[in-house]
Amino acid sequence: MNLSTRKVVPTPAHLVELERLGDEIAKLSAHLDAATARLLDLIREFDARGGWGNGFASCAAWLTWRIGLDPGAARERVRVARALGSLPRLAQALAHGELSYSKVRALTRVATPETEERLLEVGRAGTAEHVERIVRGWRRVDRIVEARESTRRHRSRTLHVCQDEDGMVVIRGRLEPEAGAVLMKALEAGRVALDQRRRDVPAETPPDGLPRTGLIIADDPPTLGQQQADALALIVETALHHGIDPGAPGERYQVVVHVDAQVLADADAPGQSVLEAGTRVSAETSQRLACDASRVVMRHDPAGRVTDVGARTRTIPPALRRALQHRDRGCRFPGCRLPFGQGHHIRHWANGGPTTLSNLAMLCRRHHRAVHEEGYQVERQPDGELRFRRPDGQLLAQVPTPATVPTDPVETLRAQNYARGLHIDAQTSRPAWFGECLDLGYAIDVLHPLVASLRDAPAT
Ligand SMILES: [Zn+2]
Ligand SMILES: [Zn+2]
Repeated sequence: MNLSTRKVVPTPAHLVELERLGDEIAKLSAHLDAATARLLDLIREFDARGGWGNGFASCAAWLTWRIGLDPGAARERVRVARALGSLPRLAQALAHGELSYSKVRALTRVATPETEERLLEVGRAGTAEHVERIVRGWRRVDRIVEARESTRRHRSRTLHVCQDEDGMVVIRGRLEPEAGAVLMKALEAGRVALDQRRRDVPAETPPDGLPRTGLIIADDPPTLGQQQADALALIVETALHHGIDPGAPGERYQVVVHVDAQVLADADAPGQSVLEAGTRVSAETSQRLACDASRVVMRHDPAGRVTDVGARTRTIPPALRRALQHRDRGCRFPGCRLPFGQGHHIRHWANGGPTTLSNLAMLCRRHHRAVHEEGYQVERQPDGELRFRRPDGQLLAQVPTPATVPTDPVETLRAQNYARGLHIDAQTSRPAWFGECLDLGYAIDVLHPLVASLRDAPAT
């Protein structure tokens, strides 16, 4: 105890008084940890049941908005809450006030159901600093094991292509997870494109009228394996045709929508809204895509022939977009604050809404979808403030009013913990440590289940 800055020399009565104060701190802290366990249980349930889904990108974003946590702390709470779902021993130790939230937070970074028991002992025996150091050492071992695993996987990548006796080409291989994911995505896109072509060809079209892939389409619908094979052929042809170049990101994700003017103005009006590939999208989706886009207006005669093509214009001109970015500084949806987004016309331009600052609000992609397709409403108040409502009409406050707290929250918390059968005193969370030096290398050696495998395997 460092009392050097205090003028008063402690008398025995003072020391007793300070001892009592210290016990009080330890006791209340254990009560708060026990309450934190309950809080994490609630967060885990809320998260699992998607309670945050009504307008928020994640459970952490909801916590930031609703209880005022900073985003980092909110993400950490959700992570710990989820982890404790499969770590009952650590969860129980926190719920009984035996381990502090800090220790549990550190231990859940590495604990698995298999290692939970021994890590719990580490938490009980050591101080928060010991726990933190052991967890860091543990993660180092994990990273080494992981790096070796990933090197091994990377080396094992392979693709064999050979021809069998009847001339068919046989493919067999192992791809790294990310290359495999791209392949699977491309195969899916290829299957969808071929399926679309198959639908577009009227039944009476002779086979020589087929699109240029030259695939023979039999009467029976192709099996999944056959579709995959056709899709791979299409991907390969497309790659060779366009040159092997992934292209600029802007081009890759460009979406073209053909939409009838009356559909843009009124989602219930008859008319079409179709993506370039022929996929139909809802009128609400086409309104969202058109809300902030460049557009080319084409006029058709009743037979569908194009009679007039206008110049390409940006719905929101660059100068106005800069002003919008400057004013809104990111998504305006309550609790979001993502620093970039799209310009949303509060009254859609197709309905005569002007493209002016007062009729625009910046919304991120997620929340732009929420207002167009999920029934959220936004309006500008006479004082210029935006007001958001849920699909059921309920107001969504920018900053919710804090929950009411009983007049003596500490006493209430204690009473609740005791009512739940907890026995918490000043010794509940005291570590078993007696001041000996922590031998980190030894501790990791005996604790981490994979250290032995590192010793046996040659370094790579
Ligand atoms: Zn919009
Ligand atoms: Zn947003």
